[in-house]
Amino acid sequence: MQRKNGKLGIALVGLGGYATGQLAPALLHTNDCYLAAIVTGTPSKIPVWQDQYHISDKNIYDYSNFDRIKDNKDVDIVYVVLPNNMHAEFTIRAAQAGKHVICEKPMAITVSDCDRMIEACKKANVSLSIGYRLHFEPYNKEMMRCGREKLYGAIQQLSGGFGFKAGPNQWRLTQKYAGGGPLMDLGIYVVQALCYTAGMLPVSVAAQEGTKTDPERFKEVEQSLTWQFEFPGGLIGKGESSYEDHFNYIRAEADKGVFELTSAYNYNGQRGNTPAGNMSFAQVNQQILQMDAFARSVKNRQASIVPGGMGRRDVIYLQAIYEAMRSGKKIRI
Ligand code: NAD
Repeated sequence: MQRKNGKLGIALVGLGGYATGQLAPALLHTNDCYLAAIVTGTPSKIPVWQDQYHISDKNIYDYSNFDRIKDNKDVDIVYVVLPNNMHAEFTIRAAQAGKHVICEKPMAITVSDCDRMIEACKKANVSLSIGYRLHFEPYNKEMMRCGREKLYGAIQQLSGGFGFKAGPNQWRLTQKYAGGGPLMDLGIYVVQALCYTAGMLPVSVAAQEGTKTDPERFKEVEQSLTWQFEFPGGLIGKGESSYEDHFNYIRAEADKGVFELTSAYNYNGQRGNTPAGNMSFAQVNQQILQMDAFARSVKNRQASIVPGGMGRRDVIYLQAIYEAMRSGKKIRI
């Protein structure tokens, strides 16, 4: 394992909005990893990134010569930040190059792709993690704790939603690249939050597609979607996601009162309260914490707390929600 000041080298694959706006800036402040290499199909980005992040010529790749990263000792971890349908290919190629992998959410478009990704990482003896940054965010961690420890008694009502307006003409609105609409992109956060707030995993789901007020923009994917998870014991967790309407919450009504996040899923600005009062935690940089935690887990040969298996589980839920939506039937999970 090659280390620069004890830090592991990360290669970012795909220099789009998330890599540029969040991950690379965060990597200037990480303690256990740093930005060692980039993989891009857009040559004009190279000088800008090299200048900003001091990346040497030998650590620049494109999608066709990416496999040569196998011989690059500067790179310990490959972080796949591409459109959803490309996650499987690049995770598998990274594993075959002997690199540990962080793959963005959703892990893949199909469960069989998730299986191939997990298998490739297992075979190469590398660790696989999903970009679930909220597991490192204090307000969401508090919801996990409330759910796990049943701090406010049994939950009677549970609901969550994430939606915002998505502009036209982007891969996120295509079935091929995104694998679906707002559910794949935003609803996945709600799927996660319903599970970690309930402290349980669902046994079945029903779902309904929302009305398309803009059928042109939403030719291929849903504009909005609601679903209802049934948890063991009968608790219903209601979820909603939309590319048109704004909402951003998770709310549990328990025996001893309500605990909720009224701003839940953004990069910052979380707000929440419990029967004990308003939550008050320091704002953190989720991406720094997430990438450092993974780098430390690699160094210490421990599993990621957001492993490939969790990404696969969620893809199963996303697929079940779509099946329930299309069939109009309750789907057992
Ligand atoms: P983006 O469209 O801004 O960037 C995608 C990148 O992939 C671009 O650099 C583009 O050039 C490249 N690319 C390579 N081949 C492509 C192709 N055939 N079509 C389109 N683009 C291609 O997207 P993004 O917002 O950076 O999202 C990338 C991934 O990161 C997605 O899986 C998304 O779900 C995930 N993401 C996660 C978070 C988070 O908070 N964890 C936030 C944003 C995005």
